[in-house]
Amino acid sequence: MVTPGAPRVLVVEDEAALAAALSQGLTQDGFNVETVGDGLLALDLLRNEDFDVIVLDLMLPGMGGLDLCARLRAAGSGVPVLVLTARITEDDQLRALRTGADDFLPKPFSYRVLVARLWALLRRTGPRRGVVLTAGDLALDRSARTCRRDEVEIELTPREYSLLELLMSRPGQIVSKRFALDEVWDPALKEESNVLEVYVRYLRRKIDLPFGRHAIGTVRGVGYRLYPDGG
Ligand code: CA
Repeated sequence: MVTPGAPRVLVVEDEAALAAALSQGLTQDGFNVETVGDGLLALDLLRNEDFDVIVLDLMLPGMGGLDLCARLRAAGSGVPVLVLTARITEDDQLRALRTGADDFLPKPFSYRVLVARLWALLRRTGPRRGVVLTAGDLALDRSARTCRRDEVEIELTPREYSLLELLMSRPGQIVSKRFALDEVWDPALKEESNVLEVYVRYLRRKIDLPFGRHAIGTVRGVGYRLYPDGG
């Protein structure tokens, strides 16, 4: 269940029962929640998707929470991170803050306090910059992952959203088929695949046809381009 406009939180926690409880609670409290139980998988997810805040356990399989946090900061990510930790020594707290964590909560913690801390972090960081991409009356809100044309909300699948985001982040520029396959699908996909053409058709059916518009141009044999005026 996805609530439009709700903040996206990633819960990185390998204790399945705790992760499930947090997911259920935070969903009821108005967050869009994803959970992942492995540090490496979390890093992979964070490379491909935007989150507004992260709840991060320190002891994780794959990659530890502190290493994950350091990697995020090294990659330039400013997403707020709340660390959950059973370790509570002063040194551990200092190390967590030094690697770029914004706040921490010792386990066991109060759920109400966790939620209050998350909202406080979100208020502190405010709306993320460059959060809405526009092309004429076509708008893509990257924090809510929603799409609108002429104030009408358009439902996109995650893949359609990613493709439109790629095109809208490069208005007027040619996006080659190879680049789109790498960014939205998988670098292992061969260019003979017609998945891109199929998804461009899906997108046009949603963002163009009902509005009598033509936002996505075909550059034959090369790729596609989004018209900056929205078509
Ligand atoms: Ca753990």
